[in-house]
Amino acid sequence: MDPLLNHQPLPAHPPLPKPVGHGRRTVPRSFRDLTPGDHFNPRTFFREMVWHALKTSPTGSVKIPNFPHLKDDQLALTWIGHASFLVQFEGLNAIIDPNFANWLFLLKRLKRPGLRVKDLPPIDLVLLTHAHFDHFHKPTLRKIPSPKIAVMPWGCAPLAQSLGFGRIVELKWWESFGHDDWKVTLVPAEHWGARTLADKHRGWGGFVLEYRGRTVYHAGDSAYFPGFHEIGQRLKPELALLPIGAYHPESFRKVHMGPDQAVQAFHDLQAKWLVPMHHGTFKLSFEALDEPARWMESLSREHRLEHRVRMMEEGIPERF
Ligand SMILES: [Zn+2]
Ligand SMILES: [Zn+2]
Repeated sequence: MDPLLNHQPLPAHPPLPKPVGHGRRTVPRSFRDLTPGDHFNPRTFFREMVWHALKTSPTGSVKIPNFPHLKDDQLALTWIGHASFLVQFEGLNAIIDPNFANWLFLLKRLKRPGLRVKDLPPIDLVLLTHAHFDHFHKPTLRKIPSPKIAVMPWGCAPLAQSLGFGRIVELKWWESFGHDDWKVTLVPAEHWGARTLADKHRGWGGFVLEYRGRTVYHAGDSAYFPGFHEIGQRLKPELALLPIGAYHPESFRKVHMGPDQAVQAFHDLQAKWLVPMHHGTFKLSFEALDEPARWMESLSREHRLEHRVRMMEEGIPERF
């Protein structure tokens, strides 16, 4: 739960790019309501993240997923919401940062998960990018159907004991673990890994999952950084699952990126598809909940990326 941990105001950064055309979008419209230095007094936090969410009814519908029958070289991606994805290949089911929580402590989920945890297929591989509560959600992990192997960054394995995994694997950046036809590599990210203020020993990162020539990159949480270029060069991901929310106030861009930077990261990676994530589910920051998606759609038109940016709906599997 990043904002709780990132409560030190940082020096001002340059303002965001000016909004371009496209009617009602203002970026970020929440600027008007804020004054610098007021970001993280407890009252503002409570009003913006907790109280506002409490009064808001969640949107989105829980679906009975219709998982496609896959051929040899196909993959299906199902967005569960926030940073959670099911990645399916013919012969392998992987889940990344699963989180079906309706509450993260005081923070209410504002968009329902796209499916029920009980409707998941048996999971061969669980990938956990870091120990923040919105990504490493123990109550969800306990419910994952027959999880065989969990892969996570260094220092996170103690958190995964007694969650039902057959095997737990810790990786450092650029280390890989594989079996049969699949291989997963932990890659760097510009973020941090502490689950509480005290634990400084836990790692973080993103994952590149390869299976029979198909390659999916989940960036975890990350600020924009030169590592995207290196990940693109070394592992050539086809699909890039990139976070686009929790970028306001500006100090959050030390650890998260906005849609503008996700587009740049996508170019750096030279991937084929950009799948935006980490938006619209929990209010972790001060931009409006629907702003990242609207800004992303506008940027995708502006950069003529409509066929490469895949805005997914929770609970609807898409074939790639
Ligand atoms: Zn995080
Ligand atoms: Zn996060």
